[in-house]
Amino acid sequence: MSGADARRPLIAGNWKMYKTVAEAESFVQSLLPRIAGRAGIDVGICPPFPALAAIVDSTRGSSVGVYAQNMHQEPEGAFTGEVSAPMLAELGVQGTILGHSERREQFGESDRALQLKLPAALQAGLEPILCVGETEEERERGDTERKLRHQVQEDLTRVEDARLSEVVIAYEPIWAIGSGKVATAEQAQEAIAFIRALVADRSRVAAERTRILYGGSVKAENAQELLALPDVDGALVGGASLDADTFAAIVAAAP
Ligand code: PEP
Repeated sequence: MSGADARRPLIAGNWKMYKTVAEAESFVQSLLPRIAGRAGIDVGICPPFPALAAIVDSTRGSSVGVYAQNMHQEPEGAFTGEVSAPMLAELGVQGTILGHSERREQFGESDRALQLKLPAALQAGLEPILCVGETEEERERGDTERKLRHQVQEDLTRVEDARLSEVVIAYEPIWAIGSGKVATAEQAQEAIAFIRALVADRSRVAAERTRILYGGSVKAENAQELLALPDVDGALVGGASLDADTFAAIVAAAP
């Protein structure tokens, strides 16, 4: 088995700062029967921190993995308001989003911090979902590849080659996030193939195995076309992951 066959699709829902514990529980009760017959695919949900433990519990034994949306690079310390990788792992969380553009833009998440967060997550047994992507201006001035090269190379610097394929990468063009403007199939395929080539510069074997997702205004209506692209191994879904019916329809659209 090689190439796309070796990569199990992942559809992950990033809930951002939405849903109380009670709302998260009711979503899960509604989602699980809707995706019960769906084999050969991984489903992830990324609730806010307070709902993690409850959702780990209520998804136990299902195909749904639970991911956090961020973590600190240190295992513990005087970092008020932060949460560490071992703390997440203790809850039974499967992984965490890292470097989402909202954290990079609004909370000063830096490539330097991500260089430390990625190995810290792996060390704790968490699967990172590293988000990368260009702004609209960067795309318009032809800087998309330069931006992706910078983020992928910098952020993965301290991940050893042998563990590279354990990092999921999400290509999320910033202009497509929450905007209703989805990348065309051609734009998504081109950027994701480019990211795969960047991983291959480090390790060809890892590049064949690394799951690379598309994110940015994925909806039930456009999911099938995006998820069928040869280098696209799944989706990171924001707004459309908040409704169990819609999210289940996106899961159903995966090849
Ligand atoms: C996201 O925030 O990761 C995202 C892709 O959001 P949306 O699907 O709402 O564009």
